[in-house]
Amino acid sequence: MNFQERILDWYSLNKRTLPWREIDDPYQVWVSEIILQQTRVEQGTPYYYRFLEEFPDIRSLAEASEQSVLSVWRGLGYYSRARNMHHTALKVVADYNGVFPRDYKTLIKLKGIGTYTAAAIASRCNNEKVAAIDGNVNRVIARYFGVSNDQEKPSANVKIASISGQLIPDDHPADYNQAVMEYGALVCTPTSPKCDTCIFQQECYAFRNGLVAKLPTPKNKIQVRIRYFNYLHLIAPDGRIALNKRVGNDIWKNLWDLPLLESERLYDASELQNSEKLKSITNEIADCLSVKNYVHKLTHQTLYVRFFTYHLTKLPETDGTELVWVNPDTERVPVPRLIEKFLTRD
Ligand code: SF4
Repeated sequence: MNFQERILDWYSLNKRTLPWREIDDPYQVWVSEIILQQTRVEQGTPYYYRFLEEFPDIRSLAEASEQSVLSVWRGLGYYSRARNMHHTALKVVADYNGVFPRDYKTLIKLKGIGTYTAAAIASRCNNEKVAAIDGNVNRVIARYFGVSNDQEKPSANVKIASISGQLIPDDHPADYNQAVMEYGALVCTPTSPKCDTCIFQQECYAFRNGLVAKLPTPKNKIQVRIRYFNYLHLIAPDGRIALNKRVGNDIWKNLWDLPLLESERLYDASELQNSEKLKSITNEIADCLSVKNYVHKLTHQTLYVRFFTYHLTKLPETDGTELVWVNPDTERVPVPRLIEKFLTRD
């Protein structure tokens, strides 16, 4: 049996039961693929159900406001995925009469759909013979075939794509794509792969040459920007908190944030108490109630964060300011994951 036959056999016996596994509706496959882009299966599954309950088809998604889509996405993070989905839904309704495309060439033109997602949808929903290459596939192929270039360089990606394109069988392209991904997720994992029980152990280049830990070559380290965020967590007498919408070209665009002072270092409570920012909002504060520190890592940024909680003695006049007062327990406005974590902490 060749590589393809063996991995398909393994897949039929070992695949996990997942809610989107047998689906061939392109809209639903798209939703699952986008949710899973930066989210683990266990975390993403309830969101998959919730998203489809709120937006069962492309038209309902297109008719929703961006804010309501972001609200449903709340807790998943990487909100650009939700924004792109909304944009794409509008486009599909406007240009394709609300019929979600199934073919690779059309899919790849849509916002937020890259080569992997287009191939995943086209192979599953259009039976197209296109290889879907995600991190799992990349790892399995790099190890098995010994592709050792820097994975950031186009030459390595071209090699992996070329090998994957040759391997994909004429029949069952969707099962084959899913089989390699599943093998990377369950057996040929990034750390501690299960080489002892692997069906490919004898032929695997990395295993035979003692290179399992070295392949695929790790990505180049990216430059990480360090930032310091001092947050005002202001609680009004009726329990509402102050939020403002983030605008401008920065992280978390259009999400709702606590009032923020960004600085060159973290402040202490007395500096915050005397800050113009706090005074511009209110003088009706009791002493600082608590200070909480977080370190929040994004792909290109590390945020050192301090939350200062104040109880206000009176709701301030905020007419003319950008602040809104919301009840965090009942009003689910879209907030960055960091703020969600802080507000829902024990
Ligand atoms: Fe992956 Fe190890 Fe199997 Fe090679 S032998 S394919 S490294 S699990």
